Amino acid sequence: MRKSLYAMNLDEIMEELNLEKKFQARIVRDNLVKGITDFSQMTSLSKKDRERLRWDAMTTSIVEKQESLSAVKLAIRLQDGLVVECVRLSDGKDRHTACLSSQVGCAMGCAFCKTGTMGLKRNLDSGEIIEQFVHLEKLGEKISHIVFMGMGEPLNNFGPLMEAIHILHDREQFDISYRKITISTSGFVPGIHKLSELELPIKLAVSLVTADDAKRSRIMRINRTYPLSELKKALISFQRRENKRITLEYCMLKGYNTGAEDAEKLKKFMSGMDALVNLIPWNPVEGMSFESPSDDEIRAFTNELKRLGINYSIRRSKGRDISGACGQLASKNE
Ligand code: SF4
Repeated sequence: MRKSLYAMNLDEIMEELNLEKKFQARIVRDNLVKGITDFSQMTSLSKKDRERLRWDAMTTSIVEKQESLSAVKLAIRLQDGLVVECVRLSDGKDRHTACLSSQVGCAMGCAFCKTGTMGLKRNLDSGEIIEQFVHLEKLGEKISHIVFMGMGEPLNNFGPLMEAIHILHDREQFDISYRKITISTSGFVPGIHKLSELELPIKLAVSLVTADDAKRSRIMRINRTYPLSELKKALISFQRRENKRITLEYCMLKGYNTGAEDAEKLKKFMSGMDALVNLIPWNPVEGMSFESPSDDEIRAFTNELKRLGINYSIRRSKGRDISGACGQLASKNE
């Protein structure tokens, strides 16, 4: 498979394109960052080079685009024919968030997540991660934030993930501040430790779902290897280094994790850490037996959280109607 130019440094671009001077590679890279991927459109390149390079720089292509009021979902075909999905979420003002995938499918098999039903097909390389961002930005709005909440467990593909993040952060390239990048993990403890060691101000979100070990192990296999006590230790150590509030994603499943006892356990899990609970009523996925909680059930749970002094917010998922919300991504185009 051809390596994406987006994942190359200037020397590699020179070699790949047979360019003589570094400044020519810089011209190519500047154009790529602007989303100009057709060399014939790179007007600062010499005519000779433009005529010589008669191909498109992207290694991936859009095979389907679905739009709703606040979200656009793209299905992206990779060179080997596999398909990943990514989503742009907009707040109606100037915040446009790219939700990117890190793997094709996912090995974690969380019972409430459509991606988990696919199994892991393979890891994405850094170029394939960056090209999702480029496709989303080419839709017309400047992307301001990135969340790795698409397909896959990002911390299970650590090297390519961090390579992509460094390029997306690079001031001379996409210039996205680390503070505007969030990695969401299912609780892959070794990955959280590795991330801590880098000491970067990247935000961390954890898909907690429940603070009851038995219940969590039943629907999230990762908990059988890294139970809540280990996860908590890793989060506290991450927080000590980064001093950043951690987001605990709490996918609300009707009748499963929304009782008063669940709130008590959540309170206990959160003691000693600065965290915000992000409540996400489950996004329906065809063929899965879970249900979204009713408004009354959500209200009763949030009343408990209030009573216990737990910081929370509720995320009514954007993109739900185009199956682009959390837990709904899977490559039906594959
Ligand atoms: S919730 Fe995340 S970690 Fe779990 S199966 Fe889905 S994509 Fe994988």
